[in-house]
Amino acid sequence: MAVLLSTKANAMEAWRGALLALDPGLEIRMFPDAGDPAAIEAAVVWTSHDMAELRRYPNLKLIVSMGAGVDHLLRPPGPPPGIPVARLVDRMLTTQMGEWVLLNVLRFHRQDLEYRALQRDRHWLELPAPVTAERRIGILGLGELGSHAGGLLRGLGFPVMGWTRRPRQVEGVETFHGEEGLAAMAARSDILICLLPLTPATRGIVDARLLGRLPRGAFVINGARGGHVVDADLLAALDSGQVAGAALDVFQPEPLPPEHPYWAHPKVIMTPHAASITIPASAAPQVVENLRRARTGAPLLNLVDFAAGY
Ligand code: NDP
Repeated sequence: MAVLLSTKANAMEAWRGALLALDPGLEIRMFPDAGDPAAIEAAVVWTSHDMAELRRYPNLKLIVSMGAGVDHLLRPPGPPPGIPVARLVDRMLTTQMGEWVLLNVLRFHRQDLEYRALQRDRHWLELPAPVTAERRIGILGLGELGSHAGGLLRGLGFPVMGWTRRPRQVEGVETFHGEEGLAAMAARSDILICLLPLTPATRGIVDARLLGRLPRGAFVINGARGGHVVDADLLAALDSGQVAGAALDVFQPEPLPPEHPYWAHPKVIMTPHAASITIPASAAPQVVENLRRARTGAPLLNLVDFAAGY
């Protein structure tokens, strides 16, 4: 089986080495040097790979995304018809996102924006003590990333709620689904965390309506996709005081243009889509396993549901 590998130039060798370390017999072609298109049976691609290009390979059996999100792969023209797409579900991705979420929840919970501003002014002032058990956290999406982050926050003593597409039971987490569930959870979310996949149903979900439902002075954390947030609505909510601070890892577009108001906004904490970065050596075992399954016709791991969009 020849495997087409396509990712950012600086990650290509690490991916190739990680895959070959597990299966030295793999024949790897590094995009754009695909060789004979008829030899390619699987494509392991970064989310920016052009799906129209994958229509060149008549014997393609599997596409593997090098990331957890697949919104880039599913947008038109989408993958070649009939070809399954697998995404990454990786312990190190999940761990990193959990750390990034904790960092920002604690930053807001422990009044770090205010203390940094006080330090800049050399102003010695003790703020009221924050109470963990009273800081209610609402998580949009309780999948691999959301449920792990929720577990960490619960472990620290925060009351955690979560919103999903289908009804779910998660131990220690109050769960919600549907439009009404979203409104009910938002009304009690002192910190709202978005860890949803970007789909037609979730695009622009963090808008003026949802932000307006949060308790006044709530915080917003987005580690999912820039397209979940209506930027003008979030900026208006920050400026009015409805939202007291936002931690954002993902933007629309990326890289965020230097003139964008987020860069210099005193209530916005930014990271450059770096909350959770794929580490090839960690992700390679499931990719090699899926290549083996594609070869033998066994059921594939972590398949994307095209109808649901994630
Ligand atoms: P999962 O597929 O495991 O979980 C998705 C969750 O979102 C599920 O709980 C699902 O509900 C819920 N959901 C999906 N659609 C809806 C909807 N319409 N209404 C309500 N809930 C919905 O995804 P992951 O946790 O692995 O990843 C989530 C996203 O995080 C990725 O898609 C990606 O965009 C982003 N990401 C960002 C990274 C970064 O570095 N910033 C790194 C990695 C991922 P249900 O449980 O019912 O299926």
